[in-house]
Amino acid sequence: MRDIKLVVFHHTGVPTQNQSVKGIEEAHLARGFDKIGYHYIVDFEGTIHEGRKESEVGAHAKGFNTPSLGICCFGAYGLNNLQAVSLLVLADTLAKKYKLSPWDFLRHKDLARTLCPAYDIDWLKQKL
Ligand SMILES: [Zn+2]
Repeated sequence: MRDIKLVVFHHTGVPTQNQSVKGIEEAHLARGFDKIGYHYIVDFEGTIHEGRKESEVGAHAKGFNTPSLGICCFGAYGLNNLQAVSLLVLADTLAKKYKLSPWDFLRHKDLARTLCPAYDIDWLKQKL
């Protein structure tokens, strides 16, 4: 099992329904990644899609990919309730699996100069 120390949260930055996991993958392939850069993608219905395998190093947070997993949510302004429920389930599963503390969960903007993601994760950390 890969040694995971961090989970990094992202958003797509796209507010509308006009997006898909396949579209994200195509954009990442166009950037030269060999597959989608995130490990999990949460759509507007709260469905969790698998991107890269957890065993594979992702391509989502420059300088922090090796010890981390990347999770991306559809949207640009925040999470809806369906996404929030799924994100908590996913985070809780990963926290137990990799023995992570709430402090090991970070937003992309905590690591780089970016506005990604728009949503807060303090509420989520408090529930882990
Ligand atoms: Zn990001």
